Amino acid sequence: ADWITEFVDTVEDGRPAPAATGRHADRFAGQLVLITGAGSGIGRATALAFAAAGARIVAVDRDGEAAARTAGLALPLGARAAWAETADVSDESAMEKLAEKVAAEYGVVDVLVNNAGIGLSGSFFDHTAADWRSVLDVNLWGVIHGCRLFGRQMAERGQGGHIVNIASAAGYQPSQALPAYSTSKAAVLMLSECLRAELAGQGIGVTAICPGFVNTNITSTTRFAGVDAEEEKRRQKRTSRLYGLRNYPPEKVADAILRAVVRDAAVVPVTPEARLFHALSRFSPRT
Ligand code: NAD
Repeated sequence: ADWITEFVDTVEDGRPAPAATGRHADRFAGQLVLITGAGSGIGRATALAFAAAGARIVAVDRDGEAAARTAGLALPLGARAAWAETADVSDESAMEKLAEKVAAEYGVVDVLVNNAGIGLSGSFFDHTAADWRSVLDVNLWGVIHGCRLFGRQMAERGQGGHIVNIASAAGYQPSQALPAYSTSKAAVLMLSECLRAELAGQGIGVTAICPGFVNTNITSTTRFAGVDAEEEKRRQKRTSRLYGLRNYPPEKVADAILRAVVRDAAVVPVTPEARLFHALSRFSPRT
């Protein structure tokens, strides 16, 4: 992961790209890997890690320019091919069009990473109905659309594959500050386990990745509903201190995702506190 970060910094600084080939096992050579939310944070790091492992990358984001930047970095890193697609994962017809286009032009996806997500903090009653809907539309419906459309293509092809859904430690650790977000992530966890059982006989693995605090845009820009500007400033100071302390890089989450696909793991907590919360959750025996 460190050499990928170094490589990207070099290219973004406008310095000549160092030779990237041969520095990473060609574990995913030629495989078609589609990542949603690939323009930033965990999605971008994951796209670049698969690129370095020789995959063909489809970088999807609602921010088309950000997706294109990721695709542009994927090629010099070792991707066999890299395309950028603009789509909002919560938009059913846009996702249908994307699935048709990808199948027709690039082929059936071997690895799907449903990563696009948004954050929203606030108390249960601070959230308006529209707040609930927007979080569930992206974080849950986005994953449902991805699994239904690309999962069906994988199943019909009959050559296996893998689906990775980015849930969160918030999906098993209740929080009064993130009711809609936590609910969406708990649903993604359950969806992943149901789908994993259903697809097991077809050689298609399903993994739920549950990061704790990771240093990305989402942790610095999550909107705090129904709170005044002063309180918002204090919150940002608190969270930046918290995240600054942890400072867990998205590249380490990307590494965990590649390893989880290789060993076909069901649920993978990533970051120390995610592992702790996981050990204390329903997955462990209770007294
Ligand atoms: P990020 O904000 O850096 O990246 C999210 C990306 O998704 C952005 O490029 C954004 O444009 C894109 N996106 C958002 N909504 C979209 C939509 N409707 N359609 C298409 N693209 C969309 O955040 P991140 O931290 O990299 O988040 C990635 C995933 O990881 C999310 O599902 C998030 O909930 C999850 N996660 C993050 C953390 C963390 O601490 N950063 C912890 C646990 C889980």
